[in-house]
Amino acid sequence: MRQSELFTKTTKELPKDETSFNAQVLIRAGFIDKVSAGVYSFLPLGHRVHEKIKNIVREEMNAIGGQEIFMPALTPKEAWETTDRWENFNVLFKLTGADKKEYALGATHEEIITPLVKKHVFSYKDLPTFVYQIQTKFRNELRAKAGLLRGREFSMKDLYSFHTSEEDLNEYYKLAQKAYFKIFERCGLLDLTYLTLASGGAFSKYSHEFQTLAKNGEDLIHICENCNIAINKEIIEEQKVCPTCDNKKLVEEKAIEVGNIFKLGNKFSKDFGFRYTDEDGEKKDVVMGCYGIGPSRIMGTIVEIHNDKNGIIWPDEIAPFKVHLIVLDNRQQTTDNKEKADALYEKLQEAGVEVLYDDREIGAGEKFADADLIGCPIRVLVSAKTLKKDSVEVKRRDSDEEELVGIRDVVNKIFSI
Ligand code: ATP
Ligand code: MG
Repeated sequence: MRQSELFTKTTKELPKDETSFNAQVLIRAGFIDKVSAGVYSFLPLGHRVHEKIKNIVREEMNAIGGQEIFMPALTPKEAWETTDRWENFNVLFKLTGADKKEYALGATHEEIITPLVKKHVFSYKDLPTFVYQIQTKFRNELRAKAGLLRGREFSMKDLYSFHTSEEDLNEYYKLAQKAYFKIFERCGLLDLTYLTLASGGAFSKYSHEFQTLAKNGEDLIHICENCNIAINKEIIEEQKVCPTCDNKKLVEEKAIEVGNIFKLGNKFSKDFGFRYTDEDGEKKDVVMGCYGIGPSRIMGTIVEIHNDKNGIIWPDEIAPFKVHLIVLDNRQQTTDNKEKADALYEKLQEAGVEVLYDDREIGAGEKFADADLIGCPIRVLVSAKTLKKDSVEVKRRDSDEEELVGIRDVVNKIFSI
C-alpha cells in the first residue's frame, strides 16, 4: 500500500473524552476512529490488524474441529425468556421492532445456538460437535472508558461444544485451553498470559479465564508462581491459597481478561429441551461448553503491552504490514531514489511481503515519526546516502540497530529477521 494513497493520516488530535492508552495511540496512528464511548470504527490499518487476529483465532478453532457459522445480532426476547436471562443479563441492549416485538442485540449466543443445534443433532452419533462464530457483540457496559478493552460494541469469537457426557466435555475443554494458548502465542501475549480460575456458574466450581498482565488492566488476579496459574480476585476471598499446591504466597497483579471458557453442563440444553438418544435408546440431556475470546480486546491488549514512547511495536504476525518502506529525498529531480524505491516496493510485494510504502513528499523526520507510531516490525530506508553504497538501511522496530543491506539482498534479509 502506498502511504500517499492511504486515506487516513496520523494525527495529534484526540477526542477530549478519550482517556485510555490503547485508544489514544490507535487513534493517533490512524487505526481506529472514536464514534462514541465504547464504539469505534476500524480504519484500513486497524481493520487489517483486527482481521489478522480474527484469522488466527479462526485457524486455531478450525484446528480443534470448530465449524464456523454466523448468527444474527438481532435476537428475539422469547429466546432470552426461555433461559431466564431477559431480566438477569444486566448489560443487554434492548429494542422494539416495527412488529412491536422486543429484541436484544446479541451479547452472547447460547440462546440462539442451542435451539439451532437441536434442529440437527438427535443421537449420540451426531455428538460431539463444535460450532463457532466470529461476530460483533453488544453490551450496554456502564463504564466504557478503556478503549478497545471494553467496547459497547466489540468482536467476539464464541465457540459452543456439545457432548454426550461430562468426560467428553472435559477432554475437549483441555484441548480448547491449548488452542487458546496457541492464539496468545501467535498474538505475542503468551509470556504475560495466565490461565486463571474464576467463578464458574451453576455447573462447575470454576470457569477459566485467560488473563494478560497489563498495568491498565481492570481485573486483579493472584498468581501462584509455583504452578503458573492465577485466581481472579473476585473469588479469592474463599480461595486464599493456590488450589493446586496450597501455596499461600500469591502475587497480586493487574490484568486484562482476554478469554473465558465455561463448562455449561446441561443448563441450556434443559432450558431448550435439547436431548439426544444414547446407545441404549435412552434420552439424555446434551452437555455443553462455551469458549469466548475477544479479538478487538486482544488488539487493545497488544497495544497496551507492545509499545514505547514513540508508538506501537506490533508482533510480526499481527502487524498491519511487515515492512514500512521509506524513501527519502524523493523530491529532488537529480536523484533516482524514487525509481529505486518503487522497484523495491514491487519486488517485495512479488516476494509476498506486505509493505506500507511511504512515498509521500514530506520530510524525513515526519516519516520516521509516523513509522514508529504505526509500528510495523521492519523499517527499510532508501535514501541518497544508502544508495551511494547500493544499499538500503534495515531496522527492526523493536531494536535500535540499523544495518546496511545490499539492495539485491533485501528480500532475503526481510525473511531472515
Ligand atoms: P468482563 O468481565 O471484562 O466484563 P466478561 O467476563 O463479561 O468480560 P465474557 O462474557 O467472558 O466477558 O466474554 C468473552 C470474551 O469477550 C472476554 O474474555 C473478552 O475477551 C471479550 N469481551 C467481553 N466483554 C467485552 C467488551 N465489553 N469489550 C471487548 N471485549 C469484551
Ligand atoms: Mg468473562
